[in-house]
Amino acid sequence: MIVAIDGPAGAGKSTVARKLAERLGFSYLDTGAMYRALTWLAMQEGLPLGDGEPLGELARRSPVMFDEAGRVLIDGADVTSAIRQSRIDRMVPVVARHHEVREVMRERQRELGHRGDVVIEGRDIGTVVAPDAAVKVYLQADPQVRARRRQAERPDIGADALATDLRTRDESDRVRMQPAEDAELIDTTDLEVDDVVSRIEDLIRTRSLTTP
Ligand code: C5P
Repeated sequence: MIVAIDGPAGAGKSTVARKLAERLGFSYLDTGAMYRALTWLAMQEGLPLGDGEPLGELARRSPVMFDEAGRVLIDGADVTSAIRQSRIDRMVPVVARHHEVREVMRERQRELGHRGDVVIEGRDIGTVVAPDAAVKVYLQADPQVRARRRQAERPDIGADALATDLRTRDESDRVRMQPAEDAELIDTTDLEVDDVVSRIEDLIRTRSLTTP
């Protein structure tokens, strides 16, 4: 079974998806980490980020891997922490918008997503990567709350700059950020993580009862 969790930065996707996967005994796939790792490598190699073709080739040549502990690896480097810097936040949408890059990433995400039960988080999972996912959820939250949550994870940047970055990233991601028509929208602004996870578990239960 595939559970798709989409939504913008700071809506709670990673925390919720991780916890849900843990509770259900499913594996977990963070597609944002894949775009982030590729962006890190492209910057490391000094590739121009405006040019799709070499980035697509780089993505094909250097597949992103996840080890058992959930560490993110690319081209032999452990980039788990490096990809959570604000300089990467800012550049990921520039890399992620190239269709050459998305083609490679989506192919790999489908490959990784079809190995048993999995919770996949991202932006286009319910719409493009796994349109036949058994359960689709789109998380959203008040922009101020999203910025506050993100701030706790980004000691390298001030609150104002972070809020501006988040707005700019929302703008660039917008084309890929539409909820699937059959996604359940959950506003996490006033919800605890456990409440969101329980709601998704209820959805999965209902879905399992109603699908033959
Ligand atoms: O979810 P996260 O904030 O880690 O995603 C980082 C960036 O990767 C997003 O801002 C977006 O540009 C890109 N992304 C994407 N498609 C996905 C997941 C992430 O374009 N499925």
